[in-house]
Amino acid sequence: MKIHLKALGCRLNEAELEQWSSAFSREGHRVIKDASEADVVVLNTCAVTTEATKKSRKLMNRLHRENPQSKLVVSGCYATLEEEEVATRLGVDLVVNNHHKDALPQKVMEAFSANTMPLIAMDSDESSLFQRGKQRAFIKIQDGCRYRCTYCIVTVARGEERSRALADIVDEVNILHQQGIQEIVLTGVHVGGYGSDNDSSLFLLVKALLDDTDMPRIRFASVEPWDLPESFFSLFENHRLMPHMHLPLQSGADSVLRRMSRRCKIADFSNLVRQARNAIPDFNVTTDIIVGFPGETEKEWQQSLETVEAIGFGHIHIFSYSSREGTKAAGLSNQINNDVKKSRSQEMHLLAAKLKTSFHQAQLNNTVEVLWESQKTAGEGQVRYSGYTPNFCKVETIVSNTVLLESQIKKAQLIDFSENRGILKVIYSL
Ligand code: SF4
Repeated sequence: MKIHLKALGCRLNEAELEQWSSAFSREGHRVIKDASEADVVVLNTCAVTTEATKKSRKLMNRLHRENPQSKLVVSGCYATLEEEEVATRLGVDLVVNNHHKDALPQKVMEAFSANTMPLIAMDSDESSLFQRGKQRAFIKIQDGCRYRCTYCIVTVARGEERSRALADIVDEVNILHQQGIQEIVLTGVHVGGYGSDNDSSLFLLVKALLDDTDMPRIRFASVEPWDLPESFFSLFENHRLMPHMHLPLQSGADSVLRRMSRRCKIADFSNLVRQARNAIPDFNVTTDIIVGFPGETEKEWQQSLETVEAIGFGHIHIFSYSSREGTKAAGLSNQINNDVKKSRSQEMHLLAAKLKTSFHQAQLNNTVEVLWESQKTAGEGQVRYSGYTPNFCKVETIVSNTVLLESQIKKAQLIDFSENRGILKVIYSL
């Protein structure tokens, strides 16, 4: 079968797509870029906000409209929270909810491949990621979360914590490395909870990946700032573990964090960041901040700004709180009006830009290893390559189009920072 895979939302959805892609290829089916050519179209939906749910619905309709002949398979958080509604929507042939999505390829082959012969066995010495223009692999290490942050629907849609077996993850990473992948990103719903259900831990997993694989670069996706094992930061002594962590703070006021039912106080968070910075030079901490959470007073807002400024971040994802049906926070009183949310979001964006500039300027003149990823033409006979430093700063360089940098790790000197584009300019060395 020709299969088209599409994901909305988080990196975990993307990691699941990569798992499905390898599973289909192993069985001789072909993963293709063009949905209109596919026999089966698989959509991994998102429902983190009301907006994301709307987007999932819209994309389902468009995929069906563009290729009414193909079988449409829908999975992910929207398909789990509204399973019946999705199953009865026009063009949907199969719904696989989050609790069964690891078996999605099997279910699709059982349902649809009876009358189609496998096309060609995919030669596995090159990762299907490259076909999809990707240079780094997202690795799903666990699913689900035991916590109940009041604004979060993910914990509802994805259920309790379940970790993949450590040996399976190590095997997957070794195969990807053989296929030319040079960077992996460990992802899940509650990454810090890895191993809580199978007698392991995130520390043991990372140690095994450093000891039992040759993957040059290992990264973390978003990690909740708690449940991190003792001596966690000692792992970064190995330079294959990239010195960057995305630690969602969400608010800079303890009273707001309490209303969010977050497991982390400001003091704990600051202490964690201090540990990381003391242990690892140029360690980059990025974060998420929700502005306008129900009941957020002017005093709490000022506290939030002061805390964010005091800690300092390489980058901040800023979200204006949007009420999500099915969460506790949606029922809280004192919902903040949109004008206030808008002005607070603008204030936080200004602060975030200032902090990002000072973090990036502090890197200038450093020489670091960059994994060069994508290229674009940049005028006559020239191409613009972009990639990331070990501590996850975006960089770019312009070279002659005779130079091939894609998927290569090369030393580069950081020479300038473009505030408008948030990108470091570099000189790379051959
Ligand atoms: S820890 Fe993260 S995934 Fe779990 S409930 Fe809170 S926000 Fe949601």
